[in-house]
Amino acid sequence: MVNLTKFSSIFIANWKLNGNSLFLKDYYEKLKVNSNNCTIICSPSIYLKSLKGNNINLFCGAQDVSSYKEGAYTGELSASMLKDSNIDFCLVGHSERRQYFAEMNDNVNIKSSNLIEENIIPVICIGETLEQKEKKLTEEILSTQIKASVPSSADHQNTLIAYEPVWAIGTGLTPTLDEINQVHELIKNFDTKFRNFKVLYGGSVKSANSKEINDLSHVDGCLIGGASLKVDEFNIIIS
Ligand code: PEP
Repeated sequence: MVNLTKFSSIFIANWKLNGNSLFLKDYYEKLKVNSNNCTIICSPSIYLKSLKGNNINLFCGAQDVSSYKEGAYTGELSASMLKDSNIDFCLVGHSERRQYFAEMNDNVNIKSSNLIEENIIPVICIGETLEQKEKKLTEEILSTQIKASVPSSADHQNTLIAYEPVWAIGTGLTPTLDEINQVHELIKNFDTKFRNFKVLYGGSVKSANSKEINDLSHVDGCLIGGASLKVDEFNIIIS
């Protein structure tokens, strides 16, 4: 399992359903990984193996994993198959999985547990919708999500949390810096178990705001969607 403690920050690119072989070749030629940071590229599964390079601070992450270990589940990829392909990280419970593929906290919990068993670090995504934020339900929603999604085997060395307000994903909107820092502090204090977890922020991170977000005292890195598709932009973020 990757030793998370040796990195000052963690940056995850989530390519979602984007990219092809040409894109990947060009991206990889231009990518400049910073040696103090951990950089993880979550490409579509079919490109996972081809992305693995020689840089020791660059890792591959999957965008999802099956909750099943093996069997008659057409189209699925198991945690052990990801491990077999040298994958070190996997997003779990991204809001798009929750919204479009009916992923629930209990699936996220099982998937994360299976990943930890295979020495793969789950990146468990949580976040409130705009409606929930406006009703001042953020704390309650996040507390429920984290307690139900994080398996009992999780600890700060084998699991990452990503706080991604649903209303900030792909919209160009972000919470204020104070709000981000407060929510991250809140997450780390939901339970003593979470105190030392690394918590990443995701939602409209770009080169223009990444430094001020990543410099916040309770932010341990960023999860980047749209801006990670432009390698020059991503290079600035991870520098
Ligand atoms: C994401 O997909 O996790 C994400 C944060 O997207 P974006 O950076 O485009 O808001």
